[in-house]
Amino acid sequence: MAKAVRLEEGVVSLLRDLMEAGIIEAVVTLRSVPQERSVVWSLVPLPEALSSVHPWFPSMPQNGAKVVSRLSKQMDNSSRLGVVLRPCEIRALRELAKLGQTNLDCLFIIGLECLGVFPLERIFSEETEIFQVERDYLEHLRAGEDIPGIRAICRACENPLPDLADLGVWARGQASPLLLAHSPKGARALETMFSPLEEVEIPAASYEILSRRGEEAQRMRQRIKETIRGFEGLTEIFGPCIGCHNCRSVCPLCYCRDCFFTSACFDYPPEVYLHRLQHRRTTRLPLDSLLFHLGRMTHMAGSCVACGMCEDVCPAAIPIAQIFKTIGAEIQQLFGYEPGKRLDEPMPLVTFRTDEFQDIGG
Ligand code: SF4
Ligand code: SF4
Ligand code: SF4
Repeated sequence: MAKAVRLEEGVVSLLRDLMEAGIIEAVVTLRSVPQERSVVWSLVPLPEALSSVHPWFPSMPQNGAKVVSRLSKQMDNSSRLGVVLRPCEIRALRELAKLGQTNLDCLFIIGLECLGVFPLERIFSEETEIFQVERDYLEHLRAGEDIPGIRAICRACENPLPDLADLGVWARGQASPLLLAHSPKGARALETMFSPLEEVEIPAASYEILSRRGEEAQRMRQRIKETIRGFEGLTEIFGPCIGCHNCRSVCPLCYCRDCFFTSACFDYPPEVYLHRLQHRRTTRLPLDSLLFHLGRMTHMAGSCVACGMCEDVCPAAIPIAQIFKTIGAEIQQLFGYEPGKRLDEPMPLVTFRTDEFQDIGG
């Protein structure tokens, strides 16, 4: 059971109430740009500016954690910034908090239950009427139905629930969404703004999806493992990579300020190319794309929240998020670690435990 209130007027009205009650002083959420051809992340400081926001809009123009991290990492605790995020964005943000790349104390997180989002390619297509897409999405959400056309990674998402937010908006199968507090900060806000509160069970409709998504995730992992088996498989799947590094720049968990793979270490002198040609008739350009992917994987797959952003921006249509989700799951299982779940659990890559992997270390 949890304390809850029904949001008869929707999320935009909740944001207005939070601002008017002084619980937040501004909000980061999705907003339509003036030509109404797309929806972008925006910082909205005034209740009257909320008329153009679309918190539910089913696309991820960037992973919101990355946007919020840039804004919040130097904020002090007295700031009160509201942020509206999907569950994978919340988990990414909590991972970034462990790396000192955001200050959760100055944030008030409103989490949305998530049916998944559409590929950016579809959202940016000339034929797409973006607000019709949003209306269809909300209808499916209210009816408790899956929506066709969402990204492959979302169809296999095992964490679509907003239970890591301060306030979670539970909307699947609900005529009006339920607003639940998931932290002391959220509970205080609910009590300040709404009373009396209902005691409710988390809606069963929200949990029904989990087994279906879990089965799809199993199938995805199986497919990817069969494809990338061995060195041959890896070179084949990463074969079309053009080395643009889009996947790295959009990843919320590629946290290094200066990336080794864009450093001068990779500005090879001509002898390196000539040396490689002594062993082969041709050499692939750019060099070392496989090294880039394996290096990135070693650095951050343990924290991958499977948000799908990398795959959405890959011009070579490599199922990169599905690969990272698959490898990430293996690494996370080895360390018994679930990225973004518990704030007091240190990240495996920055922790040394003498009792780990004794069978390997000897
Ligand atoms: S991976 Fe997709 S379904 Fe899961 S929370 Fe993110 S956007 Fe939603
Ligand atoms: S590797 Fe891809 S799926 Fe994983 S967190 Fe980064 S962008 Fe998201
Ligand atoms: S976005 Fe795609 S093409 Fe570009 S580096 Fe990543 S995997 Fe390669």
